[in-house]
Amino acid sequence: MTVPFREATIDLDAVSDNVRHLRRLTGVDVIAVVKANAYGHGSAAVAVAARAGGASRIGVATIEEGLDLRRQGVNGPILAWLHAPNRRFDDAAEAGLEVGVSSFDQLEAVAASASVNSPLGVHLKVDTGLSRNGVAPGDWGRVLAEAARLERIGRIRIVGLFSHVSNASGDEDRAALGEFQRAAEMAEAAGVRPEIRHLAATAAAIDLPETRLDAVRIGIGVYGLSPFDDRSSADLGLRPAMTLRAAIAAVRRVPAGTGVSYSYVHRAERETTLALVPLGYADGVPRQASGRGPVLIGGKRFPVAGRIAMDQFVVDVGDHAVSVGDEAVLFGDPTLGHPSATEWARAADTINYEIVTRIGARVPRRTVS
Ligand SMILES: *Cc1c(COP(=O)(O)O)cnc(C)c1O
Repeated sequence: MTVPFREATIDLDAVSDNVRHLRRLTGVDVIAVVKANAYGHGSAAVAVAARAGGASRIGVATIEEGLDLRRQGVNGPILAWLHAPNRRFDDAAEAGLEVGVSSFDQLEAVAASASVNSPLGVHLKVDTGLSRNGVAPGDWGRVLAEAARLERIGRIRIVGLFSHVSNASGDEDRAALGEFQRAAEMAEAAGVRPEIRHLAATAAAIDLPETRLDAVRIGIGVYGLSPFDDRSSADLGLRPAMTLRAAIAAVRRVPAGTGVSYSYVHRAERETTLALVPLGYADGVPRQASGRGPVLIGGKRFPVAGRIAMDQFVVDVGDHAVSVGDEAVLFGDPTLGHPSATEWARAADTINYEIVTRIGARVPRRTVS
């Protein structure tokens, strides 16, 4: 079989299985988060596979991402929660998206966009500690009273109340839950009765059962990656969905002392074989992982030799037999012997989320199931 020049293989069965597993584990509804092109995996295909695994709702950051899903034929509830300043919501209403509302002004804009016959579904977002978006605690009363009024006159439909936790520590996340419960009580008193309350993303959904409420918003877990430093995908019963591979584009036998890639930060210690991998930082392979990122070639793991360039990097494979066209796997499923996205994250001093999300548009995605 010919190895593709560059490819990110996306295992949609892994996506469905991961959602099914987390739904069973948490015992509540799963909102599958497919923002940022599904963390680099391809949003429409992932959304469909997540639904097949039992996700009741799809989450995205922006309305544009939600509209894109609709254009690609994804139906069912889609929630978008991060909006441009002064954005209108007519297109969201027309596409039947649900929107997160984080301020009084957004609430008014949403009410102005909705027709009386089909009021826009709203999830009120309260800030319970992250200090990002979400209604600030001082505004909860005013926003809740207005939301109740707008629902009574048929301008909005209040679907959800939600927030997000920081994963700072169990104690701090439980404090955020306490704040959230205070908001839920204020909502109740104001006559706001959301169908669902949701707080936890993947980490809290797994580790803090009391934060599961009516639904959990699962991002990284959908893709089979662990949000924890001390537990792997397999430890959590998850399977990584993305495998990043390329075909070795050139092989050269070189004498001791040969410099490799920019600035010669790597030099061959003895006569050796160099293999060229046609993936670089333009493809999302972090330059920060130069000299460290692990690559599987012919059943053996090697670190990147020298600098990762825009389009390519070199691996020093010693006397290992390697030919042009052989497969190089950067990361995938460790139970199959592949390096993990988490190892690349450590090599680049970042998190696995960033490794998969940054895989560039130049790398074709091929879905398998
Ligand atoms: C990205 C995001 C999530 C998903 O987080 P994971 O840690 O990937 O599960 C959930 N909720 C909100 C508000 C987000 O922005």
